[in-house]
Amino acid sequence: MFVRWDNLSLEGDEEARLPGYAETARVRRFDAPEALDVRFYEVRAKSALNRVPNRSRMPFRWTINPYRGCTHACTYCFARPTHTYLDLDAGRDFEREIVVKVNAPELVRAELARPAWDGEHVALGTNTDPYQWVESRYRLLPPIWEAMRDAANPASVLTKSPLILRDLPLLRQIAERTSFQANLSVPTLDERAWRATEPHTPHPRKRLEAVGELNRAGIPTGVLIAPLMPGINDSPAQVERILELATEAGATDIGGVALHLRGEVRGIFFDWLRDQRPDLVERYEELYRRGAYAPVQERRRLGALVGRGRTATRALSMRGRDLGPAERRRDPAPSRRSEPPVQASLF
Ligand code: SF4
Repeated sequence: MFVRWDNLSLEGDEEARLPGYAETARVRRFDAPEALDVRFYEVRAKSALNRVPNRSRMPFRWTINPYRGCTHACTYCFARPTHTYLDLDAGRDFEREIVVKVNAPELVRAELARPAWDGEHVALGTNTDPYQWVESRYRLLPPIWEAMRDAANPASVLTKSPLILRDLPLLRQIAERTSFQANLSVPTLDERAWRATEPHTPHPRKRLEAVGELNRAGIPTGVLIAPLMPGINDSPAQVERILELATEAGATDIGGVALHLRGEVRGIFFDWLRDQRPDLVERYEELYRRGAYAPVQERRRLGALVGRGRTATRALSMRGRDLGPAERRRDPAPSRRSEPPVQASLF
């Protein structure tokens, strides 16, 4: 069964085959300004919980990504190369050919109920933003959160969208039963830098307002200032302002990570630089001449910019919460819980 809509203008007769999916995808367009030129491929996935490879340094082992591709279209997005597995490109296609796993909610519930599942932490928003615009139409997240709540399964989410507030009651229910952490990514408050690097994301101040609202509701929520891009969003005054607002919003953790440029992202980012910031091309060629990462010294400099904020919020995150029996049963690594999984390193 494909998701059907009564309240939308759709052209839904197109079909497509995507590598890795047994059934043909129904291709839809939405009659909304945010979705002009965007095609949504409704697929039925085989599974929802993805195991993170052991070699990964991510602080979680399981992820759920209901969407592939992201209309937020951040120029630096590390997830872009994943679109090439679909025979789509990491540039325009990643932003406008979006795969929607319409059966993700039912898969999550079934997979969390398996006897072999031992209730490990599950991270959402690790590859594409689960609260990108079209989630307001598909509403895949509420039933996923319900499944998490019912299984009392530790979870976290990373997003750039205040759409997360729609699900606040459900997130609160999860946080009451088990460990839960939300993170809002806010790389910059500078209007020019924001519009240039993340053209279709919600306003960063709205994200910080969401951080405040979530924390006031009792949902531990942090801020990621990531990626930090030399010459673009790394002025100390700019970062300091985010730190101030994040602290005011009660951020339980503040992280920051330097830009890295792996695979196709490198070419896409350099094309963007040549077009938008030609003054920085030489500097970036030097910084990233050895590969995907800036030199250690540069990464330390960028990391130090957010260091003060991390220290200021450390007390909050270390304070932790008194755990209920469900949480004690479900979370076998309480020593790690004092510092909730932070998805900053994704960027
Ligand atoms: S919001 Fe996240 S997943 Fe989406 S384009 Fe930006 S960095 Fe990539």
